[in-house]
Order: sequence, then structure tokens, then C-alpha cells
Amino acid sequence: MAGNFATPDIPLLVLRYSANGGSAMAVVDSRYLRAVLQLAIQEGDLYLKVGNLRMGLDGRVSNAPIPELSEAFAQRASNSHPYTVIAGSPTGSVENHLLNYTLPFLALTAAGGLFVGLICYRLLGRPSSPRTILRRALEAKQFEPFLQPIVDACDGRWVGAEVLMRWRLPGEGLIRPDLFIPMAERTGLILPMTRDLMQQVAAVLAPHAADLPPHCHLGFNISAAHCRDPQLLDDCRSFLAAFPPGSIELWLELTERELIEPTEESDQLFQQLSAIGVKVAIDDFGIGHASLNYLQRFKVDALKIDQSFVQHIGADTLSGHLLDTLVELATRLDIDLVAEGVETKAQLDYLQALGIPYLQGYLFGRPMPAHEFMPALHQHRNAVGDTIDHQQ
Ligand code: C2E
Ligand code: CA
Ligand code: CA
Repeated sequence: MAGNFATPDIPLLVLRYSANGGSAMAVVDSRYLRAVLQLAIQEGDLYLKVGNLRMGLDGRVSNAPIPELSEAFAQRASNSHPYTVIAGSPTGSVENHLLNYTLPFLALTAAGGLFVGLICYRLLGRPSSPRTILRRALEAKQFEPFLQPIVDACDGRWVGAEVLMRWRLPGEGLIRPDLFIPMAERTGLILPMTRDLMQQVAAVLAPHAADLPPHCHLGFNISAAHCRDPQLLDDCRSFLAAFPPGSIELWLELTERELIEPTEESDQLFQQLSAIGVKVAIDDFGIGHASLNYLQRFKVDALKIDQSFVQHIGADTLSGHLLDTLVELATRLDIDLVAEGVETKAQLDYLQALGIPYLQGYLFGRPMPAHEFMPALHQHRNAVGDTIDHQQ
């Protein structure tokens, strides 16, 4: 019933039971029925149908046909009483539901995923430029100094060391300098990398300054870019200041493969370097094009003879002649000579006979981590008793 006399706007459900000429009636207020219907469903429509009347979730009673519920349609009739419950959603309501509820949720999930992804991408390292890779490696202190002894050719005593850079890349081990130095030079990072190398060497060796060979020769490789950088002078000053005065000699090795363009600034820089006692050596000498003028302009103190000449000793006569000429040139110019890449006793004998004063090569020691240098120096002193005679 849509209502009764007392409450015309509130529908009622009336159940009449007749027996033996009498009847009993039970009346249920539609507000309770409506509450029960609303509790039974969260989405979609639900109707209670009695005869040709039906009541929806809004609590109104009508005899109009129930709208078409094509989505999730269900209908259940009571076994004991003449009523039916009909549920479902009108056509298109699932799509509307997805649009209204699921899509915003999916969009939020996607945005959250993207955000988390971006953070991981930043933290785990995105594909970066060579400069970024090297800068991160520098910040992570992955560039380490290795030291290779330089010896006196007469008696084999260690007179110092060349500092060679290594990249300790986690998971990859040690990376050779020729694989990353060109990239460091192109990106300009070679300047802070060399500064860091100098600081690391000073930190390891300065506490043992009294134990180092007298006027210990410490050589760093520098690139053409350094010669345009006035900070090189400050870096050299700081390095020297870390040691007691006169205990070490700082050598800068400029490779002959890549000649420096002499300019007013570079002239001034090298004069200032010379004034604070820094020595200059031309590295890989003999394979490039350094002229006499060049040697004089950069106030070169030593030539490091390229390994290829040493390796060909005994194999061809040309290398021998070239070495003779180099020794003559160095003597005339009053420049020191260092022969690199000495690996055999035959090479040592030959270079000694030529009068080359300093030698470097695997025969005397391989490049070693900086912290191993002092123990190796002590071991070397104990083994040879300050001469290399026994070793020979
Ligand atoms: P380099 O300055 O000519 O250094 C000598 C190279 O010869 C080193 O290679 C050294 O390990 C290797 N060597 C030494 N003794 C022997 C030997 O008896 N036999 C043979 N076969 N090789 C020997 P490394 O350490 O791989 O360095 C390669 C080059 O990378 C260096 O050549 C230098 O040009 C460059 N480099 C190394 N460290 C630095 C750095 O800190 N700055 C710059 N700008 N360049 C660096
Ligand atoms: Ca060198
Ligand atoms: Ca060299």
C-alpha cells in the first residue's frame, strides 16, 4: 500500500492471514523495509515487488514497470510469501562506475608508480653523460693513486715514484687510466681528479716524510688542460706544503704526444712553477714532436724516454742509435733522463752502460696502491742493503 489513512505518505506492507472465518494482519512500516533494502546493496538498484506494486531504495511505491536492469541482474522470489526482490544496474552503469571510481584510482596508482619510479631512477643512476659518471666517481673517491718506483740506475736505490691513477669501480675492479683519462681530459674533470690524487698522495706519504728517499722524486702526469689552469700552481703549493721543506721534489710529467700550445699564460705558469721548485719532465719522449725550442720554453728538467725505445733494445739497431742521440742531447742541454718500461736485465745493462741516470719499469717494481709504497720501500731497503747488487 502507498499509505493509509493515518500516514498517507508512508507506504506499508500488510500481511493478512485468514483462517476459520477470522483474520490477523501484520503491518510493516516501509521505513524499516527501506533500511533493510539499503543495507543489502551498495551499488545498483534493488526493488521489493509485491503483486504489481514495487518499492525501490527511495522508499516510494509505484505500479510503473521496473526500469531495465541489464547489468548484474538478479531476482529472487520468497518461498513462503508473495514477494520478490529484484536487483541490478541500469545499462551503462558499470562503465559509469569505472569512470567515476576506478579510473581516478587507477590514475592515482599510475601517478604514484611514476613518482616511485622517478625516485628509484634518480637513486639507482640513470644513463648519464661521461661527465656525470666521472664526477660521481670522483665524489665517491673511486680514483686512487698507485705508485711505481723510479730507481737510480747506478745502484738500484729507489729515488722516488711516479703516481699513476686507477679507477676502482665497484663490481668492475681496477680500470686502467688510458680507458678513462681521455674522457676526463675532454670533460675538464682531469683538473679536480689530479688535485684529489695529489691530496691523497700527500695524506699517505707526508707522515713518513723522514723515511722517504732524500729529495724524494714524486711525479704526477698532467694534461694540456692543466697548463691553462692557474689553480695548478696552488695545487702544487699545497702538495709541497704538506711535506717538510726539501724532503721531496714535485715533478710534473707532460706527455709529448699532446704538446702544449705555448702562450703568455703558460709561460708565466711554468715560470711560477719553477720558482716554487716544481720540476717539469717531458713524458713519452721520442715519439712526439717536441722541438729544442719547446724544451727550453717550458724549462724542462727531464726527459722520460718512451717505453718503445727500451723495449726494442737488442732487437733493432735504430733504437740503440736513437738512445745514444737522446743521451747526447740531454747531456748538452743539462737535462735529466729517465728510461721507462725497463723489464729485463739486458735492458738494464744497456741503459746503465749508456749512462742513463734514472730507470723505471716492472724489473724494479710494478705500480702499487699508495699505502703499500712505504712497506715496499722498507722491504726493498732490507733486501738490497741499500744497493741493488744482490738483486742483480
Ligand atoms: P705513462 O705516464 O707513460 O705511465 C707509464 C705507464 O707504463 C703506466 O701505465 C705503467 O704502469 C706502465 N709501465 C711501467 N713500467 C712498465 C714496464 O716495465 N712495462 C710495461 N709494459 N709497462 C710499464 P698506466 O699506469 O696504465 O698508465 C698509462 C698512462 O695513463 C700513463 O702513461 C699516463 O699517460 C696516463 N696516466 C696515468 N695516470 C695519470 C694521471 O693521473 N693523469 C694523467 N693525465 N694521465 C695519467
Ligand atoms: Ca708518466
Ligand atoms: Ca711514459
